[in-house]
Amino acid sequence: MKPFLSRDNLLLWLKRLIQEYTVIAPVQAWDTVLFQPVKRVEEIVLSYDVSTLSPKDVIFPPSETLFIFERKNGRWEARPLPEVKKQVLFGLHPCDAHGISLMDAAFLSQPGDPHYQRRRDATILVGLACARARPECFCESAGSGPQDVSHLDVLLIPTPQGYILQVRTARGAALFTGFNMEELEIDNPPPPATTPVPVAGITDVAKRIFNDGYWERLADRCIHCNLCAYVCPCCYCFDIRDYPLKGMVERVRSWESCQASGFARLAGGYDPRPSTGARLRQRFYHKFLYYPTQFKGQVKCTGCGRCVRACPVNIDIREIVSDMQKIEAKVARAT
Ligand code: SF4
Ligand code: SF4
Repeated sequence: MKPFLSRDNLLLWLKRLIQEYTVIAPVQAWDTVLFQPVKRVEEIVLSYDVSTLSPKDVIFPPSETLFIFERKNGRWEARPLPEVKKQVLFGLHPCDAHGISLMDAAFLSQPGDPHYQRRRDATILVGLACARARPECFCESAGSGPQDVSHLDVLLIPTPQGYILQVRTARGAALFTGFNMEELEIDNPPPPATTPVPVAGITDVAKRIFNDGYWERLADRCIHCNLCAYVCPCCYCFDIRDYPLKGMVERVRSWESCQASGFARLAGGYDPRPSTGARLRQRFYHKFLYYPTQFKGQVKCTGCGRCVRACPVNIDIREIVSDMQKIEAKVARAT
């Protein structure tokens, strides 16, 4: 027997959730699906493949005020930032919860980022398993899967009869307090097949092909629009700027891409990554070498395939992983 919600009961539960929490859920916006706060259950899209943007902005906004200092009575004083209210991020797929867990490792490692922490602590993740996969999806090769509950508080698995419920955490269970749950003898539906990509061993491969001319050749195609970083559920490079405001100073953190010109430039003007190839390589080396070296071997990619679809010049991370493996095999044969 498994905890189960019929479609009608799911809608009833969502109605109650919207009354108690800020609920952010997938909604149809023109021809795309995006995550937005919802006021009515009818706005929520319960079946979609991959949203155009990931919901990472719920926890790591594209632009946020870190602090405001104000001149008062001849002294500088920090203004308190607004409270972050408890919120439920509903309907994200397991790969996007995996993306949040990859950001958690970076932002919550000691000493921890208090701005990220307060949003993360306030956000409960209720996922929706994938009923279908796109050809660009390779979540299983990236260490997750269409029915992976491991980075969520609750997972709903759609079936023709309704939704199988997997509750993983106490704060997920609390969302159902007082709600009349059903139980059903039912098997999980088979997960959709995802594209295999040879990610295994890529960290060691990356170490051996750093100086290969491949990266400069690939960069000839890249127009450095940074779309790949902005759509990615786990890219978290940022820039920080101070803005003067009538007797105040506001410090703002905004998304940035490590592929952007000048991202690594130091005081005095020296840029350790002056070429486009070096910057493009940095993005993939952060995903496949530097991040896994720092965080237990996990690659910093969820296999969501968004960058594959977004890139205007068809730079495809699946092909890059295969190319890296081939280049390394050639290097190994030659030595
Ligand atoms: S497939 Fe692309 S967009 Fe998706 S997590 Fe990996 S690098 Fe980011
Ligand atoms: S989306 Fe494509 S063209 Fe744009 S920066 Fe990324 S790899 Fe380059």
